[in-house]
Order: sequence, then structure tokens, then C-alpha cells
Amino acid sequence: MTSPATTDTPFVIAVDGPAASGKGTIARALADHYGLPHMDTGLLYRAVALNLFRFGGDPGNELEAVRACDLSVISFDDDELRSEIVGSYASRISAYPAVRAHLLERQRSFAAQAGGAVLDGRDIGTVIAPDATAKLFVTAAPEVRATRRLAELIKRGMNVHYDEVLADIHARDERDSGRDAAPLVQADDALLLDTSDMDVDQAIAAALALVEARLAAVTR
Ligand code: C5P
Repeated sequence: MTSPATTDTPFVIAVDGPAASGKGTIARALADHYGLPHMDTGLLYRAVALNLFRFGGDPGNELEAVRACDLSVISFDDDELRSEIVGSYASRISAYPAVRAHLLERQRSFAAQAGGAVLDGRDIGTVIAPDATAKLFVTAAPEVRATRRLAELIKRGMNVHYDEVLADIHARDERDSGRDAAPLVQADDALLLDTSDMDVDQAIAAALALVEARLAAVTR
């Protein structure tokens, strides 16, 4: 299906939500459906985190994190970007306003491209694309997210326990929601999608129905 973008209003879908909520899968499916380019903005923070990790930097030190913001040395295909340690570094360095400022323009210009776009992250609907056509806030109970993340990690051959994964989910939720700079928060005009009791196909169908309802409302 082609995107319903017009020349003056690019069709932008903002998908925000906590770690392992399914927002990435949903965002990719929406991008496929509407034929739009997709950006996983978490990967930008993970790239900074991986840089920092590789040069032995301290995620507790803002200046060192800023020095790691040169993304030209990172390949976005690097498997290590998805590792738990990099995710945990990313969650810490993303609290620094200077790191966020470094990554802002890249995300804003992706969102502003003429044909429209889908972006997923934590602050897309609030900071990156506040005028997005449709905003979804995707969530699920922490226990459900931990179970999904555990299955993913086991599939990747990692030896981890449910309790550790759940503790990490709670820690990330607290850091993402509690920080001063662009905290994870549902935008006033975002549509809430709780995927706790849904499988992947159901979650995608529900997301699509919400976007379609939003489109029908704005084009009426
Ligand atoms: O989405 P993902 O878990 O890959 O993101 C890694 C970390 O990057 C998150 O824990 C979050 O702290 C941060 N992030 C952010 N803003 C975004 C996307 C991700 O602060 N737009």
C-alpha cells in the first residue's frame, strides 16, 4: 500500500514505548504496510554506547559519552549493538542532554523527509516529531516484556535468567521515565496500545487499526 502523504504534510508515524514493548516490530510493520522508511532511534543511542564501550569510556561521565557521539566509526549492522551491555550503557548515556542534542538533527531530518517516515523510540511524539500524523504509545506489563526479552536472548544463545531480565527492564523503565531530558512519557495526543495480551500479529493489526482510525479522523 502507498503512503497517504500529501506534498505539504508528510505522513509521519511516531511509535514510542518502553524497552521490549514490541514498538520496534510494530514500527517496522507499519513502515512496510505504508511503504515508508523506518528509523529505529534506539540504535543511535546504542551506537554511541558501543563507541563508548569500545574505547573503555565510563557511561557515568557525560564528557566521555559526548566524545563517543561520532557515529561515522560504527556500522548499524553490528550485532553487538543489540547486546545487553550496550543496551544498558545506552539507557545511561541517553540521559545526557548533550548526547541527545548530538543525535537530534539526524532524527528530525529523517522525520521531515518529503515522503513521510516511521520512527520508533522514547521521545518521537514529544520531541522529535511533535506534529506527527499518528502517534502510538506501545506498552506491556513489565513481566510480559521480560518474558519476551528472555525468549529473544535465549534464541540468541545467551545464558540469562528471568529475574535478571525483569530487574533490567525495571531499571531501564525507571531511568527512561525518570530523567529530566526527554523522558519517556505518553504524548497527550498519542494512542495507547497495551500489547500484554496480544501476540505479534494481533499487536500489528491493532496498531494498524489505530493508525487508520487516526487517518480517517484527520482527513475527514
Ligand atoms: O529502544 P532501545 O532499547 O534500543 O533503546 C536503547 C536506549 O536508548 C533506551 O533504553 C533509551 O534509554 C534510549 N533511547 C532514548 N530515546 C530514544 C530511543 C532510545 O533515550 N528515542
